[in-house]
Amino acid sequence: MGEFDLIARYFKRPVRRAVLGVGDDCALLQPAAGCLLAISSDMLVQGRHFLADTDPYRLGHKALAVNLSDLAACGAQPLGFTLALALPDVDAAWLEPFSRGLLALADEHDCELVGGDTTRGPLNICITVFGEVPAVGGATQALLRSGARSGDDLYVSGSLGDARLALETLRGQWKLAPALLKRARQRLEQPTPRLALGRSLRGLASAAIDVSDGLLGDLAHVLRASGVGARIEATALRDLLACRGTELDAAVPAQHQRDCVLAGGDDYELAFTAPAERRADVLAAARDSGTPVTRIGQIDDGPGLRVLDAAGAAISGAWAAFDHFS
Ligand code: ADP
Ligand code: MG
Repeated sequence: MGEFDLIARYFKRPVRRAVLGVGDDCALLQPAAGCLLAISSDMLVQGRHFLADTDPYRLGHKALAVNLSDLAACGAQPLGFTLALALPDVDAAWLEPFSRGLLALADEHDCELVGGDTTRGPLNICITVFGEVPAVGGATQALLRSGARSGDDLYVSGSLGDARLALETLRGQWKLAPALLKRARQRLEQPTPRLALGRSLRGLASAAIDVSDGLLGDLAHVLRASGVGARIEATALRDLLACRGTELDAAVPAQHQRDCVLAGGDDYELAFTAPAERRADVLAAARDSGTPVTRIGQIDDGPGLRVLDAAGAAISGAWAAFDHFS
């Protein structure tokens, strides 16, 4: 099968809302009137972002999910995406499930594949997503990292830490019962981009970011951009692992569980801030979007980010955010 047959077979589908999709030199997208275009790219490299034996259906899902998560963090509505793919060879047994996993998530969020590039090389998946976000009276409603203010509440969506626990278990560090590992592994391999929550936080959250490199590291970006500090209540973190419970407690020390929540990475949840007087609105946004959110602390005047125990004493830890070049 040649390059163009491959594209036609696995990645070309009838155009839906794009003006022009796969097949010409450019795709054409039309954001709604009054909207700004939101754009983000993420690359997944074998051996770096995923293991060589990763299930291709789940990899297709994840490659798009990590990109959609960036749109979610901005409060954007997906429009479409491009896929730049380097493949060692044409392997139908890989391409078929990969494209199915990718396009199933794309359909779930009405995000059309409109173009890309296909070349031979070590397996590498680069996606660029395009979304739209309203601008009202010249001011964008996009959620940014820079809007957190002292006194704001600090929240996270969903669950944190499971992806890291799954990875460590797959590497042989922990022994988890199969059902427990399955739950954690689902979070590692098929993260859920929080698009509905991101949209419902427009005009409500003062700042937002998606948690890809670990909660503390990603929050540090928000604090720096906003010129504020924050404190996190350790007691509020207890229920954030999806695979928590007595079975996990027997296998993994409590302190390590907390470290996974604080610095695990690969979670693709939203961390966001909102004025304290809007707590009821945040709960309503969570309910309307069907996404659990947990209040974990508060923005203050600093310095930096502190994790406090029940008595208010600072907890220290070797929490380093993931950095490809450190
Ligand atoms: P060009 O040479 O103009 O860059 P290509 O020959 O690389 O175009 O690609 C032909 C068409 O197929 C283009 O519309 C391109 O966007 C699309 N395309 C290429 N690879 C992919 C892919 N992996 N997924 C979706 N569309 C693709
Ligand atoms: Mg090309």
